[in-house]
Order: sequence, then structure tokens, then C-alpha cells
Amino acid sequence: MRTDRLVLGAFLALLLVVPAVLSPFYVTLLNYIGLYAMVALGLVLLTGVGGLTSFGQAAFVGLGAYTTAALTTAQDLPGWLAWAGSSPWLTLVIGLVLTATVAVVLGSLTLKLSGHFLPLGTIAWGISLYFLFGTMESLGGHTGITGVPPISLFGWVLDEGGEIYYLIWAFLLLAVFTTQNLLDSREGRAIRALKGGMVMAEAMGVNTARSRMIIFVIAALHACASGWLYAHMQRFVNPTPFGLHIGIEYLFMAVVGGAGHVWGALVGAGLITVLKQWLQDLLPKLFGASGNFEVIVFGLMMVLVLQRARDGLWPILKRLVPVRGVQKTIDPNAETLPRRTLPKAGELILEAKDVTRKFGGLVANNNMSLTVRAGEILALIGPNGAGKSTMFNQISGVDTPTSGEVRFLGKPVAGHDSREIARMGMSRTFQHVKLLPTMTVLENVAIGAHLRSHKGVLSSAWRLDRDEEARLLKEAAWQIERVGLKEHMYEEAGSLALGQQRILEIARALCSDPCLLLLDEPAAGLRFKEKEALGELLRKLRSEGMATLIVEHDMDFVMGLVDRIVVMEFGQKIAEGLPDEIQRNPAVLEAYLGGVD
Ligand code: ADP
Ligand code: MG
Repeated sequence: MRTDRLVLGAFLALLLVVPAVLSPFYVTLLNYIGLYAMVALGLVLLTGVGGLTSFGQAAFVGLGAYTTAALTTAQDLPGWLAWAGSSPWLTLVIGLVLTATVAVVLGSLTLKLSGHFLPLGTIAWGISLYFLFGTMESLGGHTGITGVPPISLFGWVLDEGGEIYYLIWAFLLLAVFTTQNLLDSREGRAIRALKGGMVMAEAMGVNTARSRMIIFVIAALHACASGWLYAHMQRFVNPTPFGLHIGIEYLFMAVVGGAGHVWGALVGAGLITVLKQWLQDLLPKLFGASGNFEVIVFGLMMVLVLQRARDGLWPILKRLVPVRGVQKTIDPNAETLPRRTLPKAGELILEAKDVTRKFGGLVANNNMSLTVRAGEILALIGPNGAGKSTMFNQISGVDTPTSGEVRFLGKPVAGHDSREIARMGMSRTFQHVKLLPTMTVLENVAIGAHLRSHKGVLSSAWRLDRDEEARLLKEAAWQIERVGLKEHMYEEAGSLALGQQRILEIARALCSDPCLLLLDEPAAGLRFKEKEALGELLRKLRSEGMATLIVEHDMDFVMGLVDRIVVMEFGQKIAEGLPDEIQRNPAVLEAYLGGVD
């Protein structure tokens, strides 16, 4: 049996017997840990993985708690609504729907904010919701709502700590399980790309705004479920536990535990809860005065964790317990993903006509025209500052020309975002390599296939996406093999040499099944051997019918490789032709050899 399953099994068995062996005090403590961990888990997804910091999660806990408390205790619900308060299970559903709605509204207002504005935004709505709970007469003001009924499950009334304990931990384990599944899927890879890989992800067809909204809503739903359980455990609610400082504490738990790891949420919640309890008893005795000394200790601890263990405690714990992640296996029998039929060799696929791009007074591209045909490699070369990257941006749709037009497969490129262009069959690599360094080569390449599959969040969370996932991974593995990185498939992308990272980017681009590859300075920073390998790969792709546009600075690299060359200087085309002709062209020689380059 695998060690990770063994450890998990032992942990589950331990959880099962706890209420029988521990005193009610500790059972209650564990209940709190479970409730907190559920909120922290949402933050692991939102902040640790997705890079979106929220201080406002406690407000969503409050939303869950107040919804169920208000509905289940209401005496005077109008007849048509009386059903709503008849069972806590119904109010859970209502709470989740309400929370999702509020999260979508808040998310669409705040998620667009960048930098420190997003955390500030979460603080703002955290405070607003808190005061709403406290001031609404119907919610009992600051005294809150009492007499919340217990939850019953198939006639079993969970009115004791040792009973609701099982429900809390079942919810938590389910949340951990589904979150873990989600992260290990197509949607999960898109989510993991949010932190530090947005531009790349968009170019691979990921709708990053949607991914951000997804994790925001999921985190809010986790918080809401925690609030629902809390209300029925305490049997009363008041605004205090849903304030901003508790919101900060949740974030604290996620960071201390290990913000990027699902089990980190549990470690963080457990540690903080136990420590808080312990320090609350100990410190006043130590100092001989009463006060919230634990807050000060927590502050110091936070600084220490951020200093010493950026990734939190979970990675450290994991090293102590010999649990190894399971390597993904490639199923050779998985169905192959459908491929587009490549245009016939020689067919015109890309046409840039009189493209001019001005930046204020500077004309970076001046009346540039070029064409790329199926099955050829075209190089766009020129000295530094000639306007190659600018032209690349006009072609790939990242930027829009001041005048002129770029058409790809007969359709104009302007006005489409990176995602649509990727869908049309144009795929690119980046001048400065953009990959996710802690993800494996396989996972990085699989992001390229994002648009070739459709399974969403729910099917990923419940593992209903496995057939499709197998097809995606098979495709990614095939592309990795195709570019010659097979033996690095399971290594972290960040550990590869620069040359290999560039090759990885090509595999990722190929994974989207393009008919045109755009490469911006693929040979920059490569050693001679690496350049040779790259040249070899591009030749092979050409023989398979791929069209490639290379933007390059290195004339030697392109000469022996490409079919045609367009030379730029000062934003203009100064020559176009076969490599031989270009090598003999006086204007080119002047620009290249006569110039500083
Ligand atoms: P290359 O890739 O050939 O080295 P670029 O296309 O990056 O050249 O740059 C061409 C010229 O356009 C340079 O003078 C550069 O400073 C200018 N340029 C490029 N992008 C911008 C921008 N976003 N704003 C202003 N000037 C720019
Ligand atoms: Mg450039």
C-alpha cells in the first residue's frame, strides 16, 4: 500500500475515534479547528494558489451563519416563504446560493482591481457586511439571534459537540478532497497559472478573469458552509466572530500553514487555534495582568514565518513524514485529441498589410507588409530597436496597429484577444520565457491544450474529468517527446536550463494544435549546442507542415534554417528574399555589419 494512503488512513481512523477518547473540551477545540480550516482552505485556493489576497472571508462566514440563523428561527415568515426555514439543510442551500450571488457581485467589482486595491476592497466589504449584521434590527443587532435549532441527519439530532464534530470534519474532508482534485485538473492548472503566469495563460486560451472569479466564489462558499455549521453548533449568532480582525486571522492561518497547500489550511488552523487557547491561558499568568497578549505573539510569529518559511509549515512537515506525491501516469490507451487539418503547403495563412504603429512621435513600424505561407519558416530580422517585437505584437494581436491590417486565415487579427487568437490556430512563445517554475514540465505543457477540452470545475472536483484529463496528458506527453524533452517530463520546469525552457515553450505552443507558430527571439541566450537542437526541431516541424514566424536578432542562426527572410531597420522593411539574396544585399550588410550590431 502506498505510504500516502497509509498516512491518510491512519489520520481518518484517528479522527473517527476522537470524540470517544477525548474530553468535550478538546472535542470543541477540534470542532473549531475544523470550522476555521474550512475557511482557511478557501484562502489557500484564493490567496496561496491564485495570488488574490482577501481579508474579508469572515464576512462570508457571517453570511452563512446569519442566513441559517435568521431563517430557522423566524416566527413570522410570510406563508409563501415558510418552507425556507423548515430545515437547516434547506437554509444551507439558500445560504450557499446567496453567498455565491454576493460573491459574484463583489467579485465583479473588486477582482479587476490590481495590486493593493484588491486587499483594500476586501477590507471594505468585510467591514460593511460586519456592520450590516450588527445594525439590522431583524438580525438582533449586536445581541444577535438565539435559539438556532440543531441540525438533524436522518433523524439523528446533532445537538452535542461530539455529534456535530462528525459533520464538521466530513465537510472539511470533502472540501479538501474536492479542492485537491480541482487543482489537479485542466481548470486547476489554469488557476495555478494565475499567480505569475496571467499573460502566458491568456495566450494559451485561459480566461483568467473567469478563473479568478471561480476561486473567489469557491472560497466564499467554503466560508459560508463553515458559518452554517458554526451557527448550528453554537446555536446562536452575533456579529463578533465575523469582523475584520477574524478575517485577518483566517488569512494568518492559511499563510502559517502553507498558503499554497490544501493540507496547510488544516495545519494552520490547528496550530493557531491551539496556540491561541494555550497563550490566552498562559500569558496573562506570566505577565500578571489580563489582556490579549496572544495577539502580540501572533504578530511576531507572522513576521518570523514570513522571514523563515515563506511557504508555511506544511512543506516542512511533509519532509518529516515520508509521503511522496504520486507521479502522473500517461495512459497510452487514452484517445488522441482531435487535430485541426493544417492548410495545404504554400497556402497563404498570414498577411500583414501596410502595418504602421506609432508610439507618440516614434514610428516603431512603418508601412510593414509581410506574408507567411503554410509549411514555411519566415524570419523577421533586424538590429536591436528595429521594431521586430512591435511587429510581433501586431501580428499576435497583443497590440493594434495605428493603421494597416493583419489577417490570419483570412480573418482580421485586430479586435480579438489573445484567447481568440489562440483558438484560431496561432500560438506563440515569449522572448522572456514564461513558465510556471514549480510545476512539472508535463503540467506546463498541458496548459497549452487548455482550449482543446472543456471539463469544468464541478467535474474536476468530483473526478469526472479523468477520461479527458488522460487525453490531455497524453497529448502533452506526446508534444514533450516530439521536442525531445521526454526525460525531463516530471521535473520542475524551473530546474531546466534556459535552452530547454525555450523548447518547453515550443512544446506548450504545439499543444494548442496551431497552424502558425510565432517565436520571439527563440535563440537568445542559447549556447551553440542548444541553438543547433532548436534549429533541428524547427526543421522537423516544418517537414510536418507547420508554418513558423521567427523574430530573431541572430542572423547566423536563421541563415541556414529559414525559407525566406524579411529584414527591418528603423521600423521599415529594407529587404525581403531568400537567405542567399539577403546575405548579399548591400542595405542589409550596411544595417547589420556596418552598424553597431
Ligand atoms: P526590436 O524588437 O526590433 O528590438 P522593438 O519593437 O522592441 O524593437 O522597438 C522598436 C522601437 O519602438 C524602439 O525604439 C522602442 O523603444 C519603441 N517602442 C517599443 N514599444 C514601445 C512602447 N510600448 N511605447 C513606446 N515606444 C516603444
Ligand atoms: Mg525585440
